[in-house]
Amino acid sequence: MSLPTPLSAASRRTDRSPISDLMQRALAAPDLISLAAGFVDHATLPVEATARAAAAVLADDIDGRRALQYGTTRGDLKLRRQLVAHIEADERVAPGTFADALHRTVVTTGSQQMLELVCEALLDPGDIVLVESPTYFVFLPLVKTRGAEAVGIETDAGGMRLDSLEKALAEIAAQGRLDRVKLVYTISEHSNPSGLCLAADRRPELVALVNKWSKRQQIFILEDSAYRGLTYDGVEPPSVWRHDPEARCVILARTFSKTFSPGLKVGYGILPEALVGPVLDLKGNHDFGSAHFNQQVLAEVMASGDYRDQIALMRSTYKRKRDVMLAALDEHLAPVEPDASWTRATGGIYVWLTLPEGIDTGPDGPLFARCVEHGVIYVPGAYAFAGPSPPANHARLTFGVTGEAGIVEGIRRLSAAVAECLVAVG
Ligand code: PMP
Repeated sequence: MSLPTPLSAASRRTDRSPISDLMQRALAAPDLISLAAGFVDHATLPVEATARAAAAVLADDIDGRRALQYGTTRGDLKLRRQLVAHIEADERVAPGTFADALHRTVVTTGSQQMLELVCEALLDPGDIVLVESPTYFVFLPLVKTRGAEAVGIETDAGGMRLDSLEKALAEIAAQGRLDRVKLVYTISEHSNPSGLCLAADRRPELVALVNKWSKRQQIFILEDSAYRGLTYDGVEPPSVWRHDPEARCVILARTFSKTFSPGLKVGYGILPEALVGPVLDLKGNHDFGSAHFNQQVLAEVMASGDYRDQIALMRSTYKRKRDVMLAALDEHLAPVEPDASWTRATGGIYVWLTLPEGIDTGPDGPLFARCVEHGVIYVPGAYAFAGPSPPANHARLTFGVTGEAGIVEGIRRLSAAVAECLVAVG
């Protein structure tokens, strides 16, 4: 007889990722159209640019060997310089403006690692993280594993509502639990899952509000801008991070996964001064440095101009696919269910769908089962909410990985499944 496995409390708090189950179902049915997985557009992945950059890194024997050796925990200096210069250009400030951010810039294994490191650095069991409703559903398990609690804050077309945030902070303070609030998590650009941005005028106010409620200790803002750069309807506003020039409270987390290639799995963050040491110490435990070779490849891609060209290509590709999805929803879903609504994503790869409350979009509900029968899947919206009773009438759709014809067919199938559910509901 085998003995019980004495798993840690953190391991016991960690559930199987809901997305692995969805992926399994997708793989089991090859004809299934996935409007679920947040994969990037396959056809535009930068094979040639990556080959050129890898060849350039390996062209010189000494530099090539250096790239194939371990790097530093903080990340490659050449890449970090490029990153700071990239952010200066993106924020439209003079070169050198953010020079002091270089030592606070840490390269990570995807931005997911930065999210995890921040949670690890700040959260103990019983702590509180305030998140948008809906939020990135792969962030919530990080909070749960730490034994902390995620509390949802209402959103509208301009992202997190600051009046709701302040109300939540006041309620928590009235319960004597303000010191348990460690973090406010916001996906500032073209959010996963909503496709919407935090409004420009809310950004400085968010920083001011968090500092106002940082009474005995600092509350931090984790600004996840994984989709920054993938904008289809205009210029992105200054980041939230920009409104924290003293580097007190905003942690900026970014990645090359969406704008270049998730296969390289390189992300980065800029940390407030006080978190640099703790995060680097924890990263030392994780891996004492992200893949050095991939960092060199990306430094080369940025220096050559290929990164800029790749973003331009992805922008035009996704803008078309976004428009195709929105048009297909208008054509196929609106006539079936006039009360359905969906966001007009400003960028990124997601559209957030809201159906009438009677339609349960959950993984065990009638719509999901009918969608699988029709050969299409989505991410049930309930995964994206903190708290015990999430609303069950939302779905996250993506136009990222599927081609234009597949998007139209996927929406047609989804609409047919919704029509059947409406008949069943009566
Ligand atoms: N944040 C958000 C909002 C995301 O959607 C993702 C990827 N789906 C990540 C972070 C993590 O991506 P990666 O680790 O590949 O950089």
